[in-house]
Amino acid sequence: METLGDLEVHLEGMREYYRGGNTRGAPWRKSQLQGLLRLLEEREAEMFMALEHDLGKHPVEAYRDEIGCAKKSANYALGSLKGWMSTQKAKLPLGAVLTTAEIIPEPLGLVLIISSWNVPIGLSLEPLIGALAAGNAVVLKPSELAPRCSSLLANALPAYLDSKAVKVIEGGPAVSEQLVQQKWDKILFTGSARVGRMVMAAAANHLTPVTLELGGKCPAVLDSLSSSWDREVAIQRILGAKFGACAGQACIAVDYVLVEKRFSSISLELMKVWIGKMFGENPRESRTMARIVNKHHFLRLKTLLEDPNVKASIVHGGSMDENSLFIEPTILLDPPLESDFMQDEIFGPLLPIITLKKIEDSINFINSRPKPLAVYVFTQNDSLQKRMVAETSSGSLTFNDAVIQYLADTLPFGGVGESGMGNYHGKFSFDTFSHHKAVMRRGFLVDFWFRFPPWNDHKLQLFRSLYVFDYLGVLLTVLGLKKSKQGLSRA
Ligand code: NAD
Repeated sequence: METLGDLEVHLEGMREYYRGGNTRGAPWRKSQLQGLLRLLEEREAEMFMALEHDLGKHPVEAYRDEIGCAKKSANYALGSLKGWMSTQKAKLPLGAVLTTAEIIPEPLGLVLIISSWNVPIGLSLEPLIGALAAGNAVVLKPSELAPRCSSLLANALPAYLDSKAVKVIEGGPAVSEQLVQQKWDKILFTGSARVGRMVMAAAANHLTPVTLELGGKCPAVLDSLSSSWDREVAIQRILGAKFGACAGQACIAVDYVLVEKRFSSISLELMKVWIGKMFGENPRESRTMARIVNKHHFLRLKTLLEDPNVKASIVHGGSMDENSLFIEPTILLDPPLESDFMQDEIFGPLLPIITLKKIEDSINFINSRPKPLAVYVFTQNDSLQKRMVAETSSGSLTFNDAVIQYLADTLPFGGVGESGMGNYHGKFSFDTFSHHKAVMRRGFLVDFWFRFPPWNDHKLQLFRSLYVFDYLGVLLTVLGLKKSKQGLSRA
């Protein structure tokens, strides 16, 4: 990267461009969203290649989770922009005569987006859509761990977007640290809780608001479903949300499964069958499952499995190949709960099944751990569904499916507690990157003389009536027909 001095000059230029009002109008915002759509259309093949190169992602998965998903979001933002940007009238109490009030969304200014490597295009473009729709100037810092995708974004975006208002700065932690030291009007960070803490601490120096999209261990609770059809559907959805989501390297991937002990062997058998159907007899030969992003993460996962007590719990899979960064879809039965494997986010194709006496015990299990980004519950039991809603807390809660909540533009996407703060997607993205300004308008004709000093009992009584909307009380007090019950403590 350039020097820090160059960076500051660049950012000042962007701020000035923003202050000049260039990014505020609807036409500019629309042109940026249309530019993004053109990029996604025209550079799709390059994106497929970059995702294949960085993560071994199959084009279908790449389209489902990144390119197609971003297209859907950009189209949704384009279609909704007029409504999102519109001024909302605000109601006022009757006492506010001849006064009107409005809520006007305005852009925040110059914002920073830092993204992660596992969905390197999608998690860069999704927040970018919101930031541009809201009329901001934006610096995007993609993850260095998906280098082909990062350089594709850096090279391609300027050709489709207003390069005076949108810049991609590439680099790793050192660059990112320099970036977060700068003054921003908002930072949206996607990544680990460890780095999220550092980002938030740096942002605090400038009182910069942050949205932290973090991770954690997302549980799937699998109840003893009554029909074999339902069981098969549930198992497919769980496996899809693990091995079919960047080989488990996804923040909302299923991290572990909770089942009743009596139901564990049938669940395991079904999982084996469906892994075979999804990835073939020799998954290593299949192009379907993504690869581990790099050697560091491969060795991290390998080390987790090397704990003898964890290793002993492997009931399916377990093979790995360092050269091709391949780890077979692996299932473990009751690995030790105190192991790193069951304490840290797994972020890989290793799926532990934890057995419980009763499925209701899953509520305590979830509540005794940090609040997850997502909880998935496969059950037809209404009372369990109600208890899950009322008694657990997580970024999202999905019944009888997993991961699909990510696609809903009408739902906020974000964590709670350790899994993050703030949210985005659809209108929530627009709001995340907007300030909702309260605007009041009054004329000069009418005023409440009692709002100004000097103070006396009479004025106190008027306020007592006014604040409880007792207009008769106000009238009677003005006419001197109602006396203050409680006088002022000092004259
Ligand atoms: P990470 O925290 O290591 O890196 C994220 C980003 O921060 C990268 O762009 C990196 O360059 C940058 N960075 C690294 N060190 C930094 C520092 N000291 N100061 C400032 N920036 C720094 O995370 P990762 O490995 O890229 O992603 C994996 C984590 O992200 C997992 O925990 C996963 O659950 C989480 N995640 C969350 C979401 C979500 O939407 N909630 C999505 C994807 C991943």
